[in-house]
Amino acid sequence: MFDAILIDRAGDGRSHAALTRLERDALPDGDVLVRVGWSTVNYKDALAITGASPVVRSFPMVPGVDFSGIVEASDSPEFAPGDRVVLNGWGVGERHWGGLAGYARVKADWLVPLPGGLSLRRAMAIGTAGYTAMLCVMALERHGLRPGSGPVLVTGAAGGVGSIAVALLAALGHEVHALTGRPEEEAFLRGLGAAEIVAREALSGEGRPLAKERWAGAVDVVGGRVLGNLLSQVRYRGTVAACGLAGGMDLPATVAPFILRGVTLAGVDSVMCPRPDRLEAWTRLADTLDTARLDGLTTECPLGEVIALAPDLLAGKVRGRVVVPLH
Ligand code: NDP
Repeated sequence: MFDAILIDRAGDGRSHAALTRLERDALPDGDVLVRVGWSTVNYKDALAITGASPVVRSFPMVPGVDFSGIVEASDSPEFAPGDRVVLNGWGVGERHWGGLAGYARVKADWLVPLPGGLSLRRAMAIGTAGYTAMLCVMALERHGLRPGSGPVLVTGAAGGVGSIAVALLAALGHEVHALTGRPEEEAFLRGLGAAEIVAREALSGEGRPLAKERWAGAVDVVGGRVLGNLLSQVRYRGTVAACGLAGGMDLPATVAPFILRGVTLAGVDSVMCPRPDRLEAWTRLADTLDTARLDGLTTECPLGEVIALAPDLLAGKVRGRVVVPLH
């Protein structure tokens, strides 16, 4: 038996999350059984747990889009008992039981061997948020961003993806500007390497199709008006990596930045991202991230308190990354 969060649908059609005990036999099919060491609470997990958005595709469901752990049994030649692994996405926590449980049974193809130097806890301090932040950085680099190109803006900077994006870009030698709705987090963001703090309101109003050129690139987790306004201030031939919708699903913008400044809007998806990019992202995360900074943006939440934390995360009240010990 092991502890797990389970989301089920009640008679009223609404989903409810509860802490429960499960038997290993209850786990879904898969060729690798993993003893989960750590999981996390991502924005998508909070959506699933609160039922705020239809993230969960089948019930009952164990949420948790990521976990790190140790292989306990494997029918795949690729993994053997004792291997340290990490999993992000592939519909885990949405269609297939996820990481907020003591054990997970999954497909071998979904697992990435943990790079040597990373502990299971730090792997989840990075988690899907950090791996997505790295995919965003890789997208900016693919479109020509280099240290010295100019300032790079990170939106939702005090959140999970944002805080790791700030730390990563700073470690890679970029001048990082951090957009936040929480001025009280200025010291935290400067500690991660932000050179300048931008108030969220600066990009929240009704903007113009083109405004003064400011940023050579940007990582955007917010979407909505912030993304629209940001695009209008990207420098000639700059790139924005868009991965989130914390501020809205819509995109009020014009084509002006694209056709007059050659700006690129690069979409980033972590869930179905092909394996070679995942391996590159995890290797680079292990090589690039300063462990003291990573530890500084990480807090721990016991499994029994995750359900209560989820609404706070959706309300943008949680700083950095939250890791959940399972074993
Ligand atoms: P967090 O809740 O940790 O961070 C989101 C941050 O966005 C908040 O901390 C806050 O930062 C800012 N924010 C929140 N609400 C608003 C608002 N109404 N308007 C403007 N800014 C707001 O979430 P994550 O970092 O885990 O995820 C961020 C986004 O990225 C989510 O939309 C998530 O779904 C998406 N995502 C996408 C992935 C992909 O594969 N494409 C993978 C992982 C995440 P601050 O207080 O500093 O302003």
